[in-house]
Amino acid sequence: MLPSAPIRVLIADDIPELRTLLRTTLQGRGFELVGEAGDGRETLTLAVDREPDVVVLDLGMPGVDGPDLVAELRRRAPAVRVVALSAFPAPETRRRALDLGAHACLDKDVDPDQLVATLREVCGRAFGPVALPPPRGLEGLAADELERLWSTLAAAPVATAVVGPDGRFLRINAALSALVGHPEAALLAAGYQAVVHPEDRDTDIEQLQRLLTGEATGFQLQQRCRRVDGQAISVLCNTWLATTQRGDPLHLDGQGRPRFVVRQLVDLREGRRPEDQLAWRATHDALTGLPNRSLFLDRLEMTLARLGRDPALADVLVVDLDRFKEVAERFGDDAVDRLLVAVAGRLRSILRPSDTVSRFGSDEFAVLCPDLAHERDAVRLAERMTAGLATPFAVGGQEIVVSASIGIALTGSRTRRAESLLSDADTALQRAKHRGGGIYELFDETVRAQLIERLELEQALRQAVDADELRALYQPIVSLKEGRLVGVEALVRWDQPGRGQLLPAEFVPFAEETGLIVPLGAWVLAEGCRQAARWRANGPRTLPPTVHVNLSPRQFAEPHLIDLVAGALADTGTDPDRLCLEVTERALAANPASAATTLKRLSALGVHVSVDDFGTGYSSLASLQYLPLSSLKIDRSFVARLDLDPSDDAMVAAVIGLGHTLGLTVIAEGVETSRQLAKLDQLGCDYAQGYLFARPETASRVGELLGHDRRWQ
Ligand code: C2E
Ligand code: MG
Ligand code: MG
Repeated sequence: MLPSAPIRVLIADDIPELRTLLRTTLQGRGFELVGEAGDGRETLTLAVDREPDVVVLDLGMPGVDGPDLVAELRRRAPAVRVVALSAFPAPETRRRALDLGAHACLDKDVDPDQLVATLREVCGRAFGPVALPPPRGLEGLAADELERLWSTLAAAPVATAVVGPDGRFLRINAALSALVGHPEAALLAAGYQAVVHPEDRDTDIEQLQRLLTGEATGFQLQQRCRRVDGQAISVLCNTWLATTQRGDPLHLDGQGRPRFVVRQLVDLREGRRPEDQLAWRATHDALTGLPNRSLFLDRLEMTLARLGRDPALADVLVVDLDRFKEVAERFGDDAVDRLLVAVAGRLRSILRPSDTVSRFGSDEFAVLCPDLAHERDAVRLAERMTAGLATPFAVGGQEIVVSASIGIALTGSRTRRAESLLSDADTALQRAKHRGGGIYELFDETVRAQLIERLELEQALRQAVDADELRALYQPIVSLKEGRLVGVEALVRWDQPGRGQLLPAEFVPFAEETGLIVPLGAWVLAEGCRQAARWRANGPRTLPPTVHVNLSPRQFAEPHLIDLVAGALADTGTDPDRLCLEVTERALAANPASAATTLKRLSALGVHVSVDDFGTGYSSLASLQYLPLSSLKIDRSFVARLDLDPSDDAMVAAVIGLGHTLGLTVIAEGVETSRQLAKLDQLGCDYAQGYLFARPETASRVGELLGHDRRWQ
């Protein structure tokens, strides 16, 4: 049955004038007349032969018992719908007609529009195609359970229904009929999907499926509903299974599938019930329909007040999508909005109805579980949430994969304030983010201690530059052909009073996160340039070594980088040709367009740029070939494998080949054994750096090596 196909009608009335009247009423309004019958026998014959969608049946034809004819029609032509018309107010006849299978019963002098609407309704056309069995009653235990469930829901001021697993409405409250404008009988005949906008049906069915297969116990979706007048209205649909306190679903059938699903629709239309609408908007997020931060805090306060008298635990989880900016840039605003709605739905489906899921803004969500038996439950829940969100989202025909970080804070023995609990959860979230995302972290006293330690470290590092606590060591880079020292890499160290010399691993990532890498890196750059100028002045050699200086992703993205480099060269009188900046693949790939611009400007200054840790990132040949680069540094993990597995030789050979194809010098990092050296030499690698030649050394030690014109064989 296509929604655009006309509704095929058989008219059955003994009075020709009334048949004509009906015919003219239906003409031109999407109906096709398949026949007219003047008595019971003719009605049955035509109904069977011509297979109309609906029979408009006069209940008072002479010599025929109307309701009996309805029953006979339904028996012989089960697919046919029956709209009965009765001339007299005969409630008993009507009731019998409906009991015996009429889909609707109207007065004979019904308003033509009302008749048309009813015919459309019973044929499911106002709703689009539906092919659902007529409502059946439930039996025994199930019926009792349904009654009990419904008794708690029927009076809800919100549109509410209990729906069977096949999509049939089992119970509908008055608010729902009023919202969609269909009488209860029509809704019972049509089923839930008939009121859902066709474009929203797939998502709805997909989510429902998760409930029916036990994957979730609830979900929340913003969807469009179709009203009787054809208008699409925006609603927030909450759907859930009744569960026990522990969250186990109730009302399962013999196969463990839920018998009932509860659905509530909140009207989101502008101007609907102004008081409610205003209050609703002040407390909810407009995009996802979830409670907003202020409602969340309210509920948290209430929970905390209750917990004061209760041994139970409450739990606050804050959820943040990882690399959300990248996702937004890649897929655009529209897709992102839909993604956020889907994320909201997914979170809702993972949680119990008694939990609060809230959206604070952007990609930040928060969850309140007001009653937990044990801390472990909080962790399990976070596990379910990270796993649940890791399943790809289908948004507008494309698949979006996201991951989320979660921070957890529990109410402890101490009385806590809502805001401080939330800020603890935030702290735990930040930690999850620092650890790379996709995980959850629990806020506890250890976390708090670490937080304080980090704050102290930040303070100390901030002062390190001024307090002259930074040192630069220089590790030789050797040409394989002649064994000569052709360059040095400047590697920073921090002489922290009382803690000895710290390696970059202990503070560079931290400096990168906090932005302190910018002043720190500027110091290394200036120091490296000063040193290059000194070696040129002192050294006996014609060509002093190239000084390599590392640039972190953040430094590389700094808008003042070019000025900084130009300034360092000018201040120290260093030849730009003697400076090489090392940039990781990741920094280049983070923003290829601006990376290309920066590289061009650096190249215009005359300095070299090397791709550091090559092979660990994700540059493609295509992205590198147009960039003004001088060299590639093969990451030491590849070099290390040269000792282990001959098949890794191919990988290194390919990188060297790629570098040469692009006209770049290839430098191997972390060369520790003569076997690695021999292989690299054989594969045509140009330069090497590693403990086999020298460790990072002080500037004066490098000066000595240069003085002796040390050669490595
Ligand atoms: P990187 O740029 O890849 O530097 C090479 C690292 O490998 C250095 O570690 C060096 O000491 C180490 N290395 C050299 N030869 C060998 C070897 O044969 N075997 C082994 N196992 N390791 C070797 P370091 O000095 O700890 O630096 C680590 C990282 O810290 C550097 O990796 C670089 O990414 C970063 N870094 C160091 N100094 C700076 C700096 O001034 N600024 C910035 N932004 N980052 C820096
Ligand atoms: Mg480096
Ligand atoms: Mg490296």
